[in-house]
Amino acid sequence: MEEVIAVCGQWLFEKDKWLFHVDSRRGSKVIPVSDKTRFEDMINMVYEDYRLDKRHVNIELSYMLGRKSLMKLTRDTPPVKIGNFRQLQSFFRLLQSDKIRLCVEVTFRDNMKTMKQINQSGCNHDEDSDTDGERFDYCDDSDGATSDDENFIAYGLVPEVDTEMGKVTPHVKPKVGISSKSKKAKAVTPHVRQQQLNSLNIFVGQSFESKSALKTRLKMLTIVQQFDYDVEYSTPDLLIVKCWVQGCSWRLRASPTSDTPRFTVRVYVSDHTCSITERSARCRQATPDILGSLYTDFIGGVEPTVLPSHVKQSLNKCFGIKMDYWKAHRTLMCARELVRGSAESGYQDLPVYLHMIKEANPGTFTRLVVDSSDRFKYLFIAFDASIKGFPFMRKVVVVDGTFLQGKYKGTLLIASAQDGNFQIFPIALTESVIHPSLYVFQSFLGVISFI
Ligand SMILES: [Zn+2]
Repeated sequence: MEEVIAVCGQWLFEKDKWLFHVDSRRGSKVIPVSDKTRFEDMINMVYEDYRLDKRHVNIELSYMLGRKSLMKLTRDTPPVKIGNFRQLQSFFRLLQSDKIRLCVEVTFRDNMKTMKQINQSGCNHDEDSDTDGERFDYCDDSDGATSDDENFIAYGLVPEVDTEMGKVTPHVKPKVGISSKSKKAKAVTPHVRQQQLNSLNIFVGQSFESKSALKTRLKMLTIVQQFDYDVEYSTPDLLIVKCWVQGCSWRLRASPTSDTPRFTVRVYVSDHTCSITERSARCRQATPDILGSLYTDFIGGVEPTVLPSHVKQSLNKCFGIKMDYWKAHRTLMCARELVRGSAESGYQDLPVYLHMIKEANPGTFTRLVVDSSDRFKYLFIAFDASIKGFPFMRKVVVVDGTFLQGKYKGTLLIASAQDGNFQIFPIALTESVIHPSLYVFQSFLGVISFI
């Protein structure tokens, strides 16, 4: 029989590590456990010891790894959640070699308020509810010109992104504990999202793939931290940027790593001495390509069902950025290109793709034909299984096709036959940008029938 010391409170990511802010009013609890203690029993004991009502609150158990383990890991390693019997057993095993306390986070079941939100809502953050995530119209134009000055009142909000869609809320170190003066319920702050945003932070010694990669990161940082910078010096061998507000201490200096194109941060002063209102009054970096990167990295997917209005809404909720439909449309196009690549890169990757198909399906017949200028003409693929099965099919081949709606149009044709059981058997497919491609297709079909 062992004893676990449990404390109640809230995990917060501060600077570069996770800290557990203990609710001292609730006190510590000593919970007797053994190897046979089930996860459900543990949860029940915590509910009982802290006198919590299951109908109204959820609890989450977690712990931070011991000092020895943390020395081998990065400082931003998040706390370990306990969600089942196996994870609880791991916690017990670590207890034997290290002094670890069990951290209990309480979440309100009815309106998903954490203790943190309750405290914040009791601390007169009225502007939080008024602004409703609308920071400003960052830039309507691709050149980054800003407009809609009247929304600048919300600039003072340092981003601490919360739960569902990541609304921007003021960063206030919460007092842990329950206040009876809880106001309108806000969504829960997701530690994960906050941690993801913190991953944008820059530090001295950090190396980037290239100068442009560093500049992209800087632009993303300006959007998340709501400021802008001026380039003081920029050559292939040096980049110096500083906060656009005169006299502010924020600055960054980076230069290449030895003879490689990689850029390393040599000097970085991350603290601003300017006022929040002043520094956030300008942001020229929120171009569609940067917003597209932020969208893909921190928000969501780019499936065909995602519309510009979704992008507009989620960026507004997550970063407080207001934009018009066409800006959202361009952002979505950039995000899609980042995820899927461009139409041109798709054609460029075809030889590699065909090679991989042949590697995975030996015996597959492929043909990629380009014109004298190396431009794509047509592509033919017949998988090995289709080639081997083709002689045993009924002697009728059905060819069907569709027009491609991408940037370069073209036609996609597929040939299929029926087996003895009247089931459809695919034989080959081809894509062509020349018209008509049917003759080419028939000749290739003839080829595979002799293989
Ligand atoms: Zn500044």
